[in-house]
Amino acid sequence: MSNHIDTASVSRRLRDLVLDVPNKKVLLSRIAGSEQALDLSEPANCNGFGRIRHFHYSTSANWPRNPLPIIPACNKLGVESRKDMNAQVFQLAGCMWRCWYCFVPYNLLAADSSVSGWFTPDEMIEMYLSVSNRPSIIDLSGGSPDLSPEWILWIMEALERAGQSLEVYLWSDDNLSTEYLFEMLTPQQIRLMSEYRNYGRVCCFKGFDKESFAFNTNAAAEDFDRQFQIMRRLLKETSFDLYGYVTLTTNTDDNLKGEMANFVDRLQALSRNLPLRVVPLEIRAFTPTKARMTVDRERALAIQQDAISMWNQELASRYSTEELGKPIYEIELR
Ligand code: SF4
Repeated sequence: MSNHIDTASVSRRLRDLVLDVPNKKVLLSRIAGSEQALDLSEPANCNGFGRIRHFHYSTSANWPRNPLPIIPACNKLGVESRKDMNAQVFQLAGCMWRCWYCFVPYNLLAADSSVSGWFTPDEMIEMYLSVSNRPSIIDLSGGSPDLSPEWILWIMEALERAGQSLEVYLWSDDNLSTEYLFEMLTPQQIRLMSEYRNYGRVCCFKGFDKESFAFNTNAAAEDFDRQFQIMRRLLKETSFDLYGYVTLTTNTDDNLKGEMANFVDRLQALSRNLPLRVVPLEIRAFTPTKARMTVDRERALAIQQDAISMWNQELASRYSTEELGKPIYEIELR
């Protein structure tokens, strides 16, 4: 029997635990007092249920710069581009996967009522508005926001009610794990989300082949293919402003070049320009990840440094300098 996570059944169970549709409430992780809080440069805010995240454009040598979400946010907010920007983060208290490199402690991914609390979207926006020196980006993260697509829509509506929809840029993470967006929301609700002006959604590929995906997430290798199917639906059935992340940690460097070429081929099969909207993320150690390290995972941190060279080569061979230098939000996907 496989020891891999059964994504469909775990997702169903977690969705019921993190979302209260009749009362329009969402279960948020209490970050204050958690292991994750030890890595924060400033204390958790919003009564312990929020945090400030510092996004930086600069990255390590050899890694592409990271414009997400700074550059799309500046564009939508009509402000000059900058190199660093803060975001107000709320974390959904559940995720179906268990990435070894996740900077969130696993108990904050398990809908554990002792480290989480229920909030309506209006309560979240009220907490956000009371943050002193509040950032103009709200980041709905996790955990896996895929479990509760309603959350994103409800926050859009709450921002509109508060007269903040044009003052705030809304950013949400999607780990391409479920199709609840299409199953739980009506076409009309998806259209409303698509029409919401200041919204960007980042979809995270948890590896660049089946093996790295399973190694990273502890989910079944087949779920890697599903990530592409979900991305295809997002491209075809919504007009969200879509971006991507990819993590390049893997337990084997066999045929790294070939696997990376396949990965970029598969992205391009969805949309020729999709790789230009995907940003590779370098994995680093955090307090919650220290106890999870193994020899293979240490090795994976080293292999990602070779993998990023392969990614850079693939992009350089497929796109012109002009395409590679375009602002990320100007890259046409559809
Ligand atoms: S999918 Fe995201 S939230 Fe879930 S375990 Fe992986 S990194 Fe953490």
